[in-house]
Amino acid sequence: MRYYSVFSDETKLDINYTPSRLLHRQEQLNLLNQYLQYTTTAPGKMSQRVLVTGSIGTGKTALAQHFGKMITRKAQDRKINLEYVHVNCRQCKGSLFLILLQAIHRFIPTFPKRGYSAEELLHTLMQILDERDVHLILTLDELEALIHREGSDPLYNVTRIQEDRPSAPKRLTLICILRQPEHLEKLDPSTRSTLQRNIIHLEDYTEPQLKDILSDRVRLAFMKGAVPEQSVEHIAQVAAGEGDARYAIELLWRAGKYADSTGLREVTPECVRKAAVSVYPAIRKDVVRSFGLHEKLFLLSVARHFQRTTSAYASMGELENEYAVASEEYGEEPRGHTQLWKYVKELSALGIVEARLSGAGRRGKTTLIGLPRVPASDLGEVLEASLRED
Ligand code: ADP
Ligand code: MG
Repeated sequence: MRYYSVFSDETKLDINYTPSRLLHRQEQLNLLNQYLQYTTTAPGKMSQRVLVTGSIGTGKTALAQHFGKMITRKAQDRKINLEYVHVNCRQCKGSLFLILLQAIHRFIPTFPKRGYSAEELLHTLMQILDERDVHLILTLDELEALIHREGSDPLYNVTRIQEDRPSAPKRLTLICILRQPEHLEKLDPSTRSTLQRNIIHLEDYTEPQLKDILSDRVRLAFMKGAVPEQSVEHIAQVAAGEGDARYAIELLWRAGKYADSTGLREVTPECVRKAAVSVYPAIRKDVVRSFGLHEKLFLLSVARHFQRTTSAYASMGELENEYAVASEEYGEEPRGHTQLWKYVKELSALGIVEARLSGAGRRGKTTLIGLPRVPASDLGEVLEASLRED
């Protein structure tokens, strides 16, 4: 018997696939164009920074990459040397050195991987741009990783590099991508204010918008007729709670996988239901991956604690003890109390943990932490896998 698959081209559902059509983001694309159109009309005269914010799966990366393609095409038509380089700060381990190295490798693929400081690389990059008369739009995606690891200095240096050379042509334009604008607070006031001048915020997608994005992807990735409209609607409905296109596309892919594994020729609503229970939005791999090492260790401690206890809530003290053990296990110096509270705040904003004040029965009022939605064992597994990846 021949193997049948509902997919015609699964790669179109890959996380790294850049869609050729960007739906429902025309307004934001226009805005980005307005801020940065000088790169093709008056290159060298200006140097702007744009900040793109929005929660996970709102199309931040897709928007920037789409813009990059558009603007470089326009520059080519006008015979302007413009390069677009998109760097993911998390994949560069939050290191300015690796980020700059990646940018330099676009121009000199053989540039040595060691022997220079980040500051030297920044000057080398500017020198290369001068020598080749090139303008560069550099996108720093998942910028929180850089801020987490190296604080505010790197961004300060990169945004200032033009001011240090007032008479030279302006060569560097920055697009910064951040999930939560709160991270800006960690920057020095001058860097923050230059970034805050041009902000593009992407709202969560609505259910009809997700449906359009999904339908487009269905056409590219599935056999004709393999995904009935009601299944697309069903997925859009499930994902609309998160407003997250990445989650929607992951559900679509998994639903297809269920259809294949059960020998169906159609992605039925039951396949969608099965997909939906297999991906908890709160512990999706890409969410967990975006955490820093200690945030992961802390969340792992939460998971371990709730695997062992039958009570629904834990005190911060209990979790801190568990975290101390996990830190030691991974050979890490544990972070302080204040930092752990920040993690609790972030994790509860994401809906992974829940923090509430204790009622009667305990001495005084303390904050209790619960894990309302995610099975502790599943959470533990995802975190251990992610820590192994690191
Ligand atoms: P973010 O960077 O905000 O987390 P992404 O840009 O990675 O989100 O988008 C998540 C997924 O959804 C990607 O596969 C992307 O191609 C797709 N996607 C997001 N927005 C759109 C859109 N407006 N049109 C088509 N596909 C989109
Ligand atoms: Mg992204």
